[in-house]
Amino acid sequence: MNIHEYQAKELLAARGVVIPRGSVCETAEHAREIAASLIAEGETLIAVKSQIHAGGRGKGTFKSGYKGGVKLFKTAEEVHAGASAMLGNVLVTKQTGPEGRLVRKLIVAGAPAIEKELYLAVLLDRGSSRPVIMASTEGGMDIEEVAARTPERIFKETIDPAVGLMPYQARRIAVQLGLRGDLIAQGAKLITGVYRTWAETDASLIEINPLCIIIGADAKPKLVALDAKMSLEDNALFRQPTLLELRDLGEEAPLEIEASKFNLNYIKLDGTIACLVNGAGLAMATMDIIQHFGGRPANFLDVGGGASKEQVTAAFRIILQDPNVKGILVNIFGGIMDCNVIATGIASAVKETGMKLPLVVRLEGNNVQAGKRTLAESGLTIISGDSMADAARKVVQAVAA
Ligand code: ADP
Ligand code: MG
Repeated sequence: MNIHEYQAKELLAARGVVIPRGSVCETAEHAREIAASLIAEGETLIAVKSQIHAGGRGKGTFKSGYKGGVKLFKTAEEVHAGASAMLGNVLVTKQTGPEGRLVRKLIVAGAPAIEKELYLAVLLDRGSSRPVIMASTEGGMDIEEVAARTPERIFKETIDPAVGLMPYQARRIAVQLGLRGDLIAQGAKLITGVYRTWAETDASLIEINPLCIIIGADAKPKLVALDAKMSLEDNALFRQPTLLELRDLGEEAPLEIEASKFNLNYIKLDGTIACLVNGAGLAMATMDIIQHFGGRPANFLDVGGGASKEQVTAAFRIILQDPNVKGILVNIFGGIMDCNVIATGIASAVKETGMKLPLVVRLEGNNVQAGKRTLAESGLTIISGDSMADAARKVVQAVAA
């Protein structure tokens, strides 16, 4: 589960990580008020930041033509105008895909003068099965690019999860980042705070890009987390009830939310052939074989081993709501699953939705004869597939025609 920058920053700040002062808002008027009070407190430049679950906002463009999802302004009036241009509009960045994301919230915060941009992340290294802290002197750009061009500027510290981050490791990263003097202690404290946040929230990723050296009001250098991206491990959410409240359904694909209500494992993809399958392994194999015969799957869908007629009907309704779908492949191997339940669900869903697309069904296993009879008596035009390969070939042909 991904969370917003403002939520990540709250979790980080609670553990001693320094962030710019500011607040989150949902209206341009509120943005102006926050800016006015920050200016009254002595801030000379104000950052307005679109809150969406995607990076690359700074270089993004709104569908309205307005440039920049992260912008700096000098006055409260400019902040009001900028906030009006962002709120309620769709921001397209390198990470959102062409459809972009609707901006509903903004961070309005002080924008200190930046001396240097650094990079800091904590993630799970699957190779060593351990948490790893990744840091780089090249902040503010894609870390993938840094890794490709100047890998010697990326530093890694592997953490023993049993003892956690050791103080010497935090100091070593601080020194590798080029911090000197008082900044080493500040850096070690910040890195420790970021690691603690990662461990205590069961996060899979925290990325601070950029982590900045700024010049404070007292003319001394300070380390501040200007951006924060954070993903939480879904499988640990059961023991993180307060974090579950941070879920923003507005950022998730609507069909996937609908599917989760029916306990269906559905992931939308961008092909044209919808699949309804029981079992995750068979679902993946079905997607592979569609691809093998030259088609492209429109989704991953596992209805599970013991789906009810209602679940099958809901599954069918959900895959049909995707406007890209041009054909459907049902691939069921009834081990526990009763093939007739699937057949009854399909027949009722097709009637309910008035579906006219080519439908290829391959049923095998438990109670298959009754299932085939139900489909035959339903009066629906169904192309039946004898084997998985046969069914995949038929649906690809039907969609091409
Ligand atoms: P994204 O990574 O989605 O583009 P960032 O939060 O990193 O968004 O913002 C883009 C750039 O804007 C940063 O690299 C930084 O240079 C600048 N920036 C972001 N927040 C602030 C801030 N509070 N003060 C000053 N500059 C900022
Ligand atoms: Mg960033």
